[in-house]
Amino acid sequence: MKDIIEKYAHSVEFIDLKVVDIHGRLRHVTLPGNRLNETLFKEGVGFDASNFGFASVESSDMIMIPDPDTAFIDPFYDAKTLSLFCDVFLADTFEPFDQYPRNVLKNAIKKLEEVGVKDAMMAPELEFHIFESFGYNVDTNGSFYEVDVSEGFWNSREFSNRYIIDKKRGYHRTPPADSYSNFRNEVVKVMLEIGIPVKYHHHEVSSAQHEIELLFQKALKAADSIIIVKYIIQNIAEKHGLAVTFMPKPLYNEAGNGLHVHQFLIDQNKNNIFSGDEYSGLSQIALYYLAGILKHSLSGSLLAFTNPSTNSYKRLVPGFEAPVCATFAKANRSAAIRIPGYIKNPEKVRIEFRTMDASCNPYYSLSAILLAGINGIKQRFDPKEMGFGPLEKNIYEMADNEREKIRFFPTSLEAVLEGLIKDNEYLNEIFSKNLIVNWYTLKKREAEYVNSVPSPAEYQLYFDL
Ligand code: GLU
Ligand code: MG
Ligand code: MG
Repeated sequence: MKDIIEKYAHSVEFIDLKVVDIHGRLRHVTLPGNRLNETLFKEGVGFDASNFGFASVESSDMIMIPDPDTAFIDPFYDAKTLSLFCDVFLADTFEPFDQYPRNVLKNAIKKLEEVGVKDAMMAPELEFHIFESFGYNVDTNGSFYEVDVSEGFWNSREFSNRYIIDKKRGYHRTPPADSYSNFRNEVVKVMLEIGIPVKYHHHEVSSAQHEIELLFQKALKAADSIIIVKYIIQNIAEKHGLAVTFMPKPLYNEAGNGLHVHQFLIDQNKNNIFSGDEYSGLSQIALYYLAGILKHSLSGSLLAFTNPSTNSYKRLVPGFEAPVCATFAKANRSAAIRIPGYIKNPEKVRIEFRTMDASCNPYYSLSAILLAGINGIKQRFDPKEMGFGPLEKNIYEMADNEREKIRFFPTSLEAVLEGLIKDNEYLNEIFSKNLIVNWYTLKKREAEYVNSVPSPAEYQLYFDL
């Protein structure tokens, strides 16, 4: 903390304190630079947390206290501004607020100690769409939507226009088809400046779809990075007059946006304890861990945090490289957990959880993943005995009798919320009862709202009946 004060006290004009709300959306409050002193780090700044979607059962008066490890110069302000992520404490007792997402993740990481683990390393992959303009239109002629995308024009009635898109879409395409390579470069330059390690970026499968992958960081940093990268992408898009979305399925019948997370656990000496002699170079502990993730995904409980929107379940359908069932495999992209089989370096052995999407609050979802994994390790879940695989075949191309053995994920937000009510014991120590009830109520209301709004597809199907 002292070094941050020393480094920036006389050079920054403003301090930007950032917190997330219950959805993982950033909120901020800006202080003059002369308030950068020890008092700020001790006493913090008060705010009303009920505005952020958290239960105000205890009290809505909270204090945000900056974490000096998160300092960076925010490039999106005219004045030199030091950005700091905060932790949140109850105003009266100064106890950490148990529902605050960053606190939840810190506690989940601490719980790894119970299974002899020091920390988790995580590398997220962010997929998103860039639109030049975005119009959502329902008209009485049955035009159920009309979207201008960056790489062409899509109109549901004029299918000839799809040709323009088809020519300009695709995995790893180059310019001119990949018309936002410079945009992604600009994002990556900012990421590197503020210390977020980047693996690479590329055009993705769908029209107007892009991807930026991060390198491994400790779990808390990885969650902070997901929030910051979304913030960078959204701000650079705004500067160029573009609309960007991380929605899991923005375009019907095109690939959706996942937020895959590569992960492994480390011990006190930073050794990768996922490396071993079992399936695909994994250790026994890694197999227990992945079985925990699959088991609690299958019940819906984990997905209630990793895939918490109605739109999430429009992505988790067959045919678009998004997982639909509780399976693991080496190369199979239809599996929920992939173990990249080409990785021979024991230090780099990892599993890739492919189900999560960016409508989640990354702190909650990484916490829930860790807790599912910890439960798997404690209870010695065997993924083979539990029938999770390995499944090397593409399930989308299987015969029906083979497919019968496979267990599919719940297919709606309502269903995973019911799963959360039935299966939350593994979360309980870290996710307070208030948090689970609060999340359930909030998300249930979202599902009811979406269900009650007449949809464009309903106009198409039923308008002239
Ligand atoms: N876009 C796919 C998804 O929804 C993933 C494609 C890939 O393997 O990167 O998860
Ligand atoms: Mg991808
Ligand atoms: Mg991936």
